[in-house]
Parts: sequence; structure tokens; C-alpha cells
Amino acid sequence: MHLGIPGTIGGAVKMNAGAYGKEMKDIVFSTTYIDLDGNINKINLDEHEFEYRKSIFKDKRYIILESTLKLKKGKKEEIENKMKEYQTLRKEKQPISKPSAGSTFKRGEDYITAKLIDECGLKGKQIGGAKVSEKHAGFIVNEGNATSKDILDLIEYVKKEVYEKTGKKIELEIEIVGE
Ligand SMILES: Cc1cc2nc3c(=O)[nH]c(=O)nc-3n(C[C@H](O)[C@H](O)[C@H](O)COP(=O)(O)OP(=O)(O)OC[C@H]3O[C@@H](n4cnc5c(N)ncnc54)[C@H](O)[C@@H]3O)c2cc1C
Repeated sequence: MHLGIPGTIGGAVKMNAGAYGKEMKDIVFSTTYIDLDGNINKINLDEHEFEYRKSIFKDKRYIILESTLKLKKGKKEEIENKMKEYQTLRKEKQPISKPSAGSTFKRGEDYITAKLIDECGLKGKQIGGAKVSEKHAGFIVNEGNATSKDILDLIEYVKKEVYEKTGKKIELEIEIVGE
């Protein structure tokens, strides 16, 4: 059963994916990767240099082959209930029925970015097919026909508005690939 954060183990380890107070760094034991010279290496937890949405893989062009996770044994029913609980929270608070890349901006040191965007009156702001979700201002959703330019333009608009209104420079959580 798949619930929660969409993606593969490689993407999750590289981005130190996490939610509801837990991140990959809490469960990764070791990772095997291949470097650009074709060497296969294995690193242990402390060598991953995990930080918020960051790991040693962030600036290196390595390919993660596999990760060993250290999980705690639990009761099946309790685990399933926890999964359902988190899924309900997601459905209530996040626009998961619409296409998006997830949370667009990183959490701030001393502020909640989505709240800041909301307070700047940006919920529902739309450029082309890209829209600041009305359900969760941290998400930019595709209303059906968004181009990558619509999304990038909306990101820039949101960043500029938030900076002008609050003085905070919000940073991207997602990675921009290509031009
Ligand atoms: C609705 C929704 C909700 C989300 N909620 C969350 C959340 O709660 N928390 C969170 O952290 N993220 C969230 N995300 C973002 C994203 O799903 C996760 O960060 C996920 O772990 C990314 O994994 P992926 O396999 O899709 O990687 P991709 O997005 O495809 O790639 C991410 C990066 O990892 C690299 N990469 C992928 N595979 C490998 C590999 N094998 N070796 C080396 N590099 C690799 C890619 O090149 C890229 O740089 C959400 C996204 C959506 C759409």
C-alpha cells in the first residue's frame, strides 16, 4: 500500500523527504550509490549529511542504487491506523486531487511560509494554468493547462510579493530542472 509522500527511494533519500516530524534521516541506515566513474560505494547514516530537504546527494551527480532502512517493529493495525490518520490530514489540508510538485517553498526559520503567502492575499492567484492553491498556499497547482513558464512566473510573483510585503525571502523546496 502506498500512502503519503509520492516518489521513489532515490528521490526521497536525495531530498531527505519527510512529513509530520519525521524525515528519511530518521530511518536510513546505509545507501549504495554509483559515481560518475562507475565506482560503487556504500555510505552509512552519518555520511549522508542529511539536513532539511538536503543530503550529500544534492550537489553530486551520483545515482542511488539502494538504501537500507532501519524500521521499528510495530503492530499492523496501529501502523495502518497511523497511515490513515496522516492520509486524512493530507486530504483535509493539501490539494492532493490536483497535479502539483508538492510543497513549492521551504519552511522558514521563524515563520510558516504557506501562512505568509496566505497573509499576503495570494491564495487563488493564477497565472495561465498555474494557481496558488486555495486549500494550501504553499502548493502551486496545475489547473489543467499550465506550462512550466506559468509555474515559474507564478513562483517569481509569489516570491516578489512576499518580499515586498513582509521582507522575507522565501526559498524553493522544489528543484527546477532545465531552463
Ligand atoms: C502531492 C505531493 C505531496 C508531497 N509531499 C511531500 C512531503 O510531505 N514531504 C516531502 O519531503 N516531499 C513531498 N513531496 C515532494 C516529493 O514527492 C518527494 O520529495 C519525493 O521524495 C521525491 O521523490 P521522487 O522519486 O519523485 O524524486 P524526483 O522528484 O523525481 O527527484 C528528486 C531529486 O532526486 C533525484 N533522484 C531521483 N532518484 C534518484 C536516484 N536514484 N539517485 C540519485 N538521485 C535521484 C532527482 O534527479 C532530483 O534531483 C510531495 C509531492 C507531491 C506531488
